This record gives sequence, structure tokens and C-alpha cells, in this order.
Amino acid sequence: MPARTGAEFLDRLSRTRTHVEIQGETLTGAIAGHPAFANVVRSYAALFDLQHAPEYRNILTYPSPTTGDPVATSFLVPRTAEDLAKRSRAYKVWADASFGLLGRTGDYLNSALMALSQARDWFAQADPAFAGNIAAYYELVREQDLLLTHTLIPPQVNRSVSGSQQGGGALMARIVGHDDSGITVSGARMLATIGPIADELLVFPSTVLRAVADDAPYAFAFAIPCDTPGLRFICRQSLDHTPEAGRTHRDAPLSSRFEEMDAVVVFDDVHVPSERIFMLGHPELCNGFYSATDAVVHMTHQVVCRTTAKTEFFLGLVSLLTEAIGIDQFGHVLEDIAEIVIALETARAMMRAAEADAAVNEFGVLTPAWAPLNACRNWYPKTSQRFPAIVRKLGASGLMALPTEADLAGDAAADIDLYLQAKNLNATSRIRLFRLAWDAALSDFAGRQALYEYYFFGDPVRMAEALVRGYDRGVYKERVRQFLNRED
Ligand SMILES: Cc1cc2nc3c(=O)[nH]c(=O)nc-3n(C[C@H](O)[C@H](O)[C@H](O)COP(=O)(O)OP(=O)(O)OC[C@H]3O[C@@H](n4cnc5c(N)ncnc54)[C@H](O)[C@@H]3O)c2cc1C
Repeated sequence: MPARTGAEFLDRLSRTRTHVEIQGETLTGAIAGHPAFANVVRSYAALFDLQHAPEYRNILTYPSPTTGDPVATSFLVPRTAEDLAKRSRAYKVWADASFGLLGRTGDYLNSALMALSQARDWFAQADPAFAGNIAAYYELVREQDLLLTHTLIPPQVNRSVSGSQQGGGALMARIVGHDDSGITVSGARMLATIGPIADELLVFPSTVLRAVADDAPYAFAFAIPCDTPGLRFICRQSLDHTPEAGRTHRDAPLSSRFEEMDAVVVFDDVHVPSERIFMLGHPELCNGFYSATDAVVHMTHQVVCRTTAKTEFFLGLVSLLTEAIGIDQFGHVLEDIAEIVIALETARAMMRAAEADAAVNEFGVLTPAWAPLNACRNWYPKTSQRFPAIVRKLGASGLMALPTEADLAGDAAADIDLYLQAKNLNATSRIRLFRLAWDAALSDFAGRQALYEYYFFGDPVRMAEALVRGYDRGVYKERVRQFLNRED
């Protein structure tokens, strides 16, 4: 099957029987019709449709090496600079469709899978069968254009011990059975975003496992359909409040479109067939899963494109907002806007450096330079927290003087028209703009976005630790040492 359309995505979802717990309700199907998912499912369907839009299909797809049919560009194995540029153009087209607010669009994990499949020799160290499994799985996902999500970290019960030591070892998802047909897994993983609407779940290594025998039952990588028996997703409350309140996209323009659900993942004697297992029982290999294969580089390449789209969104939003109420001439306001401009140009420069210094890795994949991408993924989680803060500072009471769309046609219409106009906008346009700003900076959806960016790649504190430990500072230390030794 070539790259899917939105209708094909919806058709498959309508036949999926994923077990979802949400606000006291149990769902085992009809996900797309549920108020918590209906709007975001529409947004995902629209992304699939973009793959067939005449103006984007040459960017978003390429001919499948096996069938010649168009398949998604995020599966393209980059061999040349043009391939890499095509990949980032495709990321950006999808990211722009949601201002980068959809964080789990398929291209994110497709990129990981592309890199993993090319690193099949690395998998063969553990078992030659795993090399074949990862290659076959990549091809399956590419040809069926499946939507993937992933779950990595153990439940947050007691972080003073390793995941495998929590609750006597019985909390974190682990292997409880093994036979000729595969493994059986029980326990939990903390979170999977879009679990209820995805086709497949990647259960990849947790961030750090101890290289000891006790951690072997927790060391694995596999992929299963989201409706595998025994697999359950326990959702948080939905942040898309429009369906229950009978309100419109105008009232919550972002959360009513881009609210991606997060869910705890429970494995209750889940059977994983052998052919879906990519790694088993090698904690030390699991710890290198993303770096040794360069999967993390290609994932970060996608993320920087997405977050660039998000930064551009905040720049456009803050510019319109400040012009609307006539504060765009004040120095400190321009200083805040400059902060976003500088962030945008910094991200673009890091991306450009990563692509310009790309090199072919040991698996024959042209891979962006890691140092600038790694710097970017350490920098953005903190920098991005400033954007909603700037919107709140500059929007001020305008972010609260916000009648709903229904009020625009109600008894208060005349008052609203008079008192809520802006310097260059009538009241309706001003309310719509400020409503957008509220959903970007102040709503519960905005809060989740900020948390999401902060923890996107893991705990920034420990990421910074790893960055410094892995960065070669020897030459700089030596330069300073030599200066200290100068006698002149
Ligand atoms: C909105 C959202 C969506 C997510 N989606 C997914 C997903 O789809 N799939 C997925 O796998 N994960 C997902 N995550 C999880 C994400 O990977 C984690 O939030 C991140 O790795 C941090 O882990 P944690 O939340 O367990 O925080 P914790 O590790 O519990 O950390 C909490 C605090 O304690 C501190 N701390 C804890 N342990 C230590 C330590 N050993 N040393 C120093 N400080 C420590 C941290 O610095 C932090 O401030 C998502 C998270 C969010 C917020």
C-alpha cells in the first residue's frame, strides 16, 4: 500500500480495538468518534492527506524501493545531501500544519526506524534474527504507512532506585515468560503519547539499565499493534474541552485541533511474537540503542524542524498581538520579540550546520552532524519556556478579557464591539487573536505543551550531564593550561 490518505488512516482506526481507559470509560474501538480524540484524529488524517496534495506529494513521498509506489519521505534512507534536504523539507511541511504543536506525527518515529533498520549489523551482535526482524519491520511500516508511538520510561514510583528495583521489580514492564513463539511481558511503562490513536507501539529500551543480570528481564526492544490483547492505555483527562462544552474551534483554536493524548501503558501478560523482537536481554546494548545506531540523530533532525515551526508560530503570534494593542514600539517589547527572533535564527543555524557537516555513518547512512543537533536538543527545552511567558507578559489582561464565540452574537455583542476592539482590529478579530494567544500560553493545553517540550528528550538536567561528559574539552583545557604556563 502506498502512503496513506486520511480516509485510509481513519478506516484502519475504525477496525482497531485498542483498550483505552478514559475518564472512567472503557473503549475498545470507535476511538475516532470519541470526543477526546475526534478532533486530533481529524488533524492526523489531514496530515496523511497532505501526502497526496499536488503541491506537497513530491516533498512528502518518494518511490518505494520495493514497489515503486509513493511512500513517506521519513522512510527515505539518506545517501546524498539532496536526500537529507528532502527529509527536512518534508518534516517542515508536516510541522507547519500544526505550528509544530503535534509532537508525535509519524515522521518522528519513522526516522528512528529508518536509522535502526540500516544498523541491522548492530542488532546482529545480539542475534542475527534481530537484524532481520528490524529490517522487515521497517519495510512493513513503510509500505503500510503505519502510525507509531513509543514508550520508554518506567513508572515514576521511586526515582531513588533504578526502574527494575521499584516495587520489588514488579512495576516496570518486564519479561515474565519466554517460549519458541516469543516472550510474555507484564508491568507498566509510564507514558505513550497518542497511544489510543496509533497503529503500533514501540516498546524500546528505557533510558538507563544497569549492566547486571537483574536488569536482563527489563532489557528488550519490540513492537506490537496497539490493540494487542492484554495491552491497556490509561489516559489523562482530555484537554480538548470544545466537544463537551458545545463550543467551536474559535474558542480553543489549538487544543481543539492538536490535543495529543498521553496515556500510561499497562502490559498484562502481553505476548510478543518472536519476529517483532529486536533486542532481548542485553542491558549494555539496550543502553546504546539510540546512539550506536544513530537513531537519535535522525529523531533530533525531525524535532529541530518541528520546533523551528513552533518558534516561527510564536514569532508571528507575538508580532500580531503587540501590533494589535499598539505596544510594538516599546523598547522592552521589541527586546522580547528579539529573543524569539534570536532563538529562531539559532535553531536554523544549528540545523544548517548539522546538515552541512553531515557524514556517512558506518551503516552507509548520510547522518547529520550530532554536535549542533545535540546542542539544540539541550537548549530548546529551556529556551522554549520563554515563548509562552512572553505571550503572557505582553498579552496581560487581554488574555482574560475574552468572551466566547457565542457572546459575539449574544446580548453583549454591542458592548464587546465597542470595548474589545483593538488598535487595528475589530472586536471579533481581536478576540480570535487573543483566544489563540491564550491557547498557546495559558490554557491547560499550553501548560502541557510547555511540559512536553521541557521533557521531550528526557530530563534536561541529566541530559546536560551526559552532554558535558561526552563532549571533548581536552583541547580547550590544554590551551588554557599552556597560557597558565607562559613565562613571558
Ligand atoms: C507531555 C509528555 C508526553 C510524554 N510522552 C512520552 C511518550 O510518548 N513516550 C515516552 O516514553 N515518554 C513520554 N514522556 C516521558 C518523558 O520521556 C519523561 O517525562 C522524561 O524522560 C523525564 O522522566 P520523568 O517524567 O519520569 O521525570 P523524573 O525522572 O521522575 O524526574 C522528575 C524530577 O526529578 C529529578 N530527578 C529524578 N531522578 C533523578 C536523578 N537520578 N538525578 C537527578 N535528578 C533526578 C529530575 O531532574 C526532575 O526534575 C512524556 C512526558 C511528558 C511530560
